[in-house]
Amino acid sequence: MPSTPLHVLVIGAGTGGLCLAHGLRRAGISVAVYERERTRSDALHGYRVGINPTGNRALRECLPPDLFDTFRATCARSPRHFNVLTGRMRRTASFALPPSDDPVNSERSVSRMTLRQVLLTGVEDVVHFDKTFTHYEQRADGVTAHFADGTSATGDVLVAADGTRSTVRRQYLPHARVEETGVISITAKAPITPETRAMLPPEVFDGISLIFGGRGRMGILHVMEFGWDERGAPKAGVGGTDADLIARWPGLLYDNTRDYLNLAVWSAADRFPADVRDRRGADLIEIALDLTRDWHPALRTIFAGSDPGSCFPVTLATSVPIEPWPTSTVTLLGDAIHTMTPGHGVGANTALRDASLLCRALTAAYSGRTPLLRALADYETEMIRYGFARVAESRGANGTSGDDPLYRPVIGRLALAGARGFFASSSRIPPLRRKFLADLSAYRGADT
Ligand SMILES: Cc1cc2nc3c(=O)[nH]c(=O)nc-3n(C[C@H](O)[C@H](O)[C@H](O)COP(=O)(O)OP(=O)(O)OC[C@H]3O[C@@H](n4cnc5c(N)ncnc54)[C@H](O)[C@@H]3O)c2cc1C
Repeated sequence: MPSTPLHVLVIGAGTGGLCLAHGLRRAGISVAVYERERTRSDALHGYRVGINPTGNRALRECLPPDLFDTFRATCARSPRHFNVLTGRMRRTASFALPPSDDPVNSERSVSRMTLRQVLLTGVEDVVHFDKTFTHYEQRADGVTAHFADGTSATGDVLVAADGTRSTVRRQYLPHARVEETGVISITAKAPITPETRAMLPPEVFDGISLIFGGRGRMGILHVMEFGWDERGAPKAGVGGTDADLIARWPGLLYDNTRDYLNLAVWSAADRFPADVRDRRGADLIEIALDLTRDWHPALRTIFAGSDPGSCFPVTLATSVPIEPWPTSTVTLLGDAIHTMTPGHGVGANTALRDASLLCRALTAAYSGRTPLLRALADYETEMIRYGFARVAESRGANGTSGDDPLYRPVIGRLALAGARGFFASSSRIPPLRRKFLADLSAYRGADT
């Protein structure tokens, strides 16, 4: 029996906020989520996200079991190779990735829109769209959130799950800063067609490819193939259970995700036109084509053939670590407190981990086992420890910092040769290959 009535307000229906909403609902705790987007299908900044064992564990803990199965069934097929390419698409290294059917200890690629629709399934009644949070008032008996439309909502706890530019954080921890790393990325999405499929060598089409181009241009290519066809019906050859889960899942009605290629190029900010952040559409594709002018025609064809509306710039940013703060009934999760570069691809996984940890803390308070503020303090201590550890590790990884030697005029060539050489020797020398794969899976699987 609960001894502490709890109503939790969550600002932001992103990865972390929606996962938390599921966990709280399963624990019987009252929750309401407020999202500024107008509808469940409105813009998402990004196409693909990699979910690793940390994220899988959190989703399995918070989601109803059948929805976790739907999440699994709606992921893209797993990459079979991790390739390192030159801009000319020469493979300087390739690692066969071990196949895994394990629902938790495996790496998955998912469309962001699909993940959002999965996470909205079953909590639609507590997610309020078109609610832009503006500020809160905190009193001894609760917290009131105010929205741009003049309405407000009151609860016992307010959770900032509103991402990198968190409005809640700006009020609550005004000294917390997010800084740009000096790197900009342009990302685009092109449909998979028989022509694009034929352009790519099998290992590239089957895998995930990191591109070390010359002149300090980096890139990544993800091939996203799903279990459903253009009409949204399960594809032939998809296993019976997965086909059934896809067919029964109502979220696909809102999800226009179909098989696609996701190509991104990034470099130091000074290699881009000064107004790149304001450019969109065909203009941005031109910039990407200019940056990659010495890349293989197949890669450039992906940019050229992408839907102009799908192309957008990303300014990479990272949180500056801060000292712990006195705990109160306002708390934070995910990018709202620890934005990290995509260098290791763990930001969403860390937001999911936060959601499951915070859910456990609030459940302990709800059941009367732990006083509310004690439970929130325990959550924050742990979240700050691992969250900022991931921020630090991600900061320089894979050229996501403008200070990377890759972007320096002369030393850049040596740095490029060193990076390619590291991957090449790791892929060719069996003990180094085993170590590389073991380190990769340990890093992405360990909840350190
Ligand atoms: C290029 C790139 C690639 C990445 N790839 C990976 C990857 O492979 N794996 C990985 O783990 N992570 C990856 N990440 C990081 C990941 O996208 C984020 O860490 C993750 O989305 C954070 O989740 P969140 O729930 O904290 O915030 P978000 O998912 O950003 O959600 C925040 C929500 O809050 C809403 N919101 C904002 N302000 C308000 C307001 N005032 N009122 C109401 N609602 C508001 C927003 O609309 C949004 O829905 C990548 C990031 C980038 C930039």
